Amino acid sequence: MISNTWRNFAGLILLSALSLSGEVKVLRNFTLIDGTGKSPAASSAMIIDNGRITWVGPVAQLKVPASAVVTDLTGKFVMPGIINLHGHLGNTVGLVQDSNLYTKESVEHDLKTYASYGVTTVLSLGIDKDLIFDIRDRQRAGRPSETRVYTAGLGLVYKGGFGGGLSLPGVPTPIIGAVSEVDPAVAQQARKKADFLKFWTDDNYGAVKRMPYDISKAIIETGHKYGLRVIAHVFYLEDAQHLVDQGIDALAHSIRDKPVDSALIASMKRHNTWLAAPTLSREDALFAYLKTPAFASDPFFTRGVSPDVLKTITSPEFQKKAAADPNISHYPETLKIGMKNLKALADAGVRYGMGTDTGVPGRFQGFFEHVELELMVQAGLTPMQAIVAATGSGAEFLKAKDLGTLEPSKWADLIVLGKNPVTDIKNTRTIEAVFLAGNKVY
Ligand SMILES: [Zn+2]
Repeated sequence: MISNTWRNFAGLILLSALSLSGEVKVLRNFTLIDGTGKSPAASSAMIIDNGRITWVGPVAQLKVPASAVVTDLTGKFVMPGIINLHGHLGNTVGLVQDSNLYTKESVEHDLKTYASYGVTTVLSLGIDKDLIFDIRDRQRAGRPSETRVYTAGLGLVYKGGFGGGLSLPGVPTPIIGAVSEVDPAVAQQARKKADFLKFWTDDNYGAVKRMPYDISKAIIETGHKYGLRVIAHVFYLEDAQHLVDQGIDALAHSIRDKPVDSALIASMKRHNTWLAAPTLSREDALFAYLKTPAFASDPFFTRGVSPDVLKTITSPEFQKKAAADPNISHYPETLKIGMKNLKALADAGVRYGMGTDTGVPGRFQGFFEHVELELMVQAGLTPMQAIVAATGSGAEFLKAKDLGTLEPSKWADLIVLGKNPVTDIKNTRTIEAVFLAGNKVY
């Protein structure tokens, strides 16, 4: 009895000594891509203490702490974890999207999938059930082992319009028919402490109604009144111009009907409006399955999907279904316009992040973030610009001061790559390890 008590007591002392001294890790001899846009730095090293970076610099100046666990990464490249500013969680299992599938388990499954592809933070845009807030708050209180969540809770849709619960039945997104209905709907999202306020305006190629501008104005102003930044699904240049003039904080998609013009650019710069999420891979995916996509035989893709899903997306039935989409002929053109508009906005100095709209059937979480980076480069950005959009800029947009770059005091959310993504953006796919808050999660 006595000896057992003593043994437990000694164990307790040992445990608290360990947690007091912390858990220190050293990574060394890698090329650092820090997410700020600075040139890659060869022969770098990093000290991580309890999940946070405490020092980063040339390996020649490294002083290895006595208790540290040292990992040699000679020949490897280290970049920050990817931040996706437009994702969806929990509603899609395999190729089926159904709001009844949304559970803690399905959300956490998706967060683990994102993490395994190096996407360490996601902004979930507008179709989340309230259980998301427990997951988010638990993550923020500690050191998550799955992708960090920011959420817009439930976004607002226009009665007779597009998006949210109108596109995915069962999702209780507030349906707004008049300006007077805006305040209570926004107040509800603010009470839940949503990170952003989302709304949709689109007509799905003329099939439904776009949101009137008096309602979008009320949503934007009410969002700001409650301290929420506002982000919208847009398609049309005309809508974007009105929303930006009304003070919206960010667009959740590229403009896809017309080239952006100087009036929009001037207004975006004046209002500091972000193109948060170009979502080029969204348009790409809409016509990717007309034939067997090349990625269907890419092990980097297949490791993230079940054999059933792989069988289905390569089947003639699936291809026939893709071809039957009444809007199928539009997508190659809308992708092209979206790409040109991203490049035009970037060149003009408008701020942009990386976002995909994954988590919908056929838009696979994790893999498509890497497709997005590739498309951003095809649109004319440099690989470094695409990387900064997906790391440092993403964190800046989220006002996540602990994320996005590999600098002292930040969380050690990072990816170890076998090849240099700055010389070829497709090398973001050479993932050898993913760390979240200093813990290896893949
Ligand atoms: Zn979306």
